[in-house]
Amino acid sequence: MRTHYCGDINETLIDQTVTFCGWVHRRRDHGGVIFLDVRDREGLVQVVFDPDTVDAFNTADSVRSEFVVQITGRVRGRPEGTTNENMKTGMIEVLGKEINVLNKAATPPFPLDGYTDVGEDVRLKYRYMDMRRPEMQEKLRFRSKVTSAARRFLEDNGFLDIETPILTRATPEGARDYLVPSRTHEGSFFALPQSPQLFKQLLMVSGFDRYYQIAKCFRDEDLRADRQPEFTQIDIEASFINEDEIMGMVQGMIKDIFAKELSVDLGDFPRMPFSEAMNKYGSDKPDLRIPMELVDVEEFLQDIDFKVFAAPAKDPKCRVAALKVPGGAELSRKQIDEYTKFVGIYGAKGLAWIKVNEIEKGVEGLQSPIIKFIGDDNTMKIMEKLDAKNGDIVFFGADKTKVVNEALGALRCKLGEDLNMYTKEWAALWVVDFPMFEENDDGSMTALHHPFTAPSCSPEELEKAPLEALSRAYDMVLNGCELGGGSIRIHDEAMQETVFRVLGISEEEQREKFGFLLDALKFGAPPHGGLAFGLDRLIMLLTGATSIREVIAFPKTQSAACVMTQAPGEVSNTQLRDLHIKLREKAKPAE
Ligand code: ASP
Repeated sequence: MRTHYCGDINETLIDQTVTFCGWVHRRRDHGGVIFLDVRDREGLVQVVFDPDTVDAFNTADSVRSEFVVQITGRVRGRPEGTTNENMKTGMIEVLGKEINVLNKAATPPFPLDGYTDVGEDVRLKYRYMDMRRPEMQEKLRFRSKVTSAARRFLEDNGFLDIETPILTRATPEGARDYLVPSRTHEGSFFALPQSPQLFKQLLMVSGFDRYYQIAKCFRDEDLRADRQPEFTQIDIEASFINEDEIMGMVQGMIKDIFAKELSVDLGDFPRMPFSEAMNKYGSDKPDLRIPMELVDVEEFLQDIDFKVFAAPAKDPKCRVAALKVPGGAELSRKQIDEYTKFVGIYGAKGLAWIKVNEIEKGVEGLQSPIIKFIGDDNTMKIMEKLDAKNGDIVFFGADKTKVVNEALGALRCKLGEDLNMYTKEWAALWVVDFPMFEENDDGSMTALHHPFTAPSCSPEELEKAPLEALSRAYDMVLNGCELGGGSIRIHDEAMQETVFRVLGISEEEQREKFGFLLDALKFGAPPHGGLAFGLDRLIMLLTGATSIREVIAFPKTQSAACVMTQAPGEVSNTQLRDLHIKLREKAKPAE
């Protein structure tokens, strides 16, 4: 139907006859001549219709925005003064000889020949129209380039692409499962995979040695900002490797993608123990572009009367930390109030501060509502420890360690952004030496990664002091985002049973839920490990998009629904009956 893409017609084709198809981007009537800009995925081309080609002229006159057309015409140089250097096709135009309307279009829900902010709901409802915009086309094409670069890298390194089931059993990654009722097994349910974790490990037991998959994963989470209920991972597993080998290899893959697609050299990835990341940055995914660190100041505050500081300073489960912000003394009261509200989201009950105006004058040169509670001496010792300079502001967090880390960690990132403190464009690192477990409020344990992660100690040591055990897990972090994470796995049955036991999973439940894994570990499971990268987030970072929804063709909204298809939707009673499901009566509205 066509000889060229619209966007590929250029001065090399002058005087040639071309046929192309696409959408009418814009129609202009210039006193007797009709101009059409016609668009396809490669770009726009300008077509001119003269009144002397009567039929074509009349048809061109009748088309409207987004009509689908097929045009044949002759390429010619644009008259002097009308060329457009910024357009691929800006040196030429096509003199239209024939135009064939392949389909009409209703008035678009939003104009495509100029940007108007119509709101995300409208864009998602008419996503197929939204994706006609060059911004969306570029992002999705870029995504395709990245997946193909990743595939090429992995295949060149001997990885095999193997699919794993979507209808399966629960794979614990810390979220709720999406369940699918079984028609043929009354009362039983499949779970959609939260990740291909157990299958990829079983592929190692089978001897495939190196596996990858661009895998859909499903997690029914309360949708915090920028998560999707279904998302894509580049999922990787290999046998007979240690953490250095696997980390080195996949780091090579990410560096390769950045070098090829953005001409960026990410440099070497430093490694940072989890404990250091939490202490200095309040986060296990520190943004190292921001030159600020959290500093412990408990030692100066344990013996003061001011309980707000003294109590947490003495409590081993708490932390009192300071964050020095260069140039922050200029923040107004109103701005400080806003930051106080901001840390409130993370549970902080307040945000104490000291402004450093003239440090050479001692406490006289400081400004703060809290010095009188801390005491002059302690205040100056803190200033000394922080090496405070004129123009700084120091913020304090005093609470449960988790609250202080989350609040000051988030504040650090927010200030970094608000005050534009970034020292470089990209900062990648590995976070390592994670604890195996976290203690819940009721004293039970949760695996920090997942329960198949190998600890760096023996089963006996693990059982004796589970909270002290470190794991052989590693996370790749870029600009404060977790790009990927994984671990060396447990390949020994006794170790796997120990981890389950520490997690409070009874023997019966172990057999019921993970019997197939425990069995497989009996039959010669090789040492193995792997990791998974969040593809959506990777593309978001690479394209500078503001949300992962911008790099997914058909994303769900924050309430885990699709406004276009109206999924999830109701089903008929017959379907429910087939699935042996009876819905509970909906709560009756209050009288
Ligand atoms: N299955 C893990 C996840 O989805 C990644 C891994 O450990 O390989 O986070």
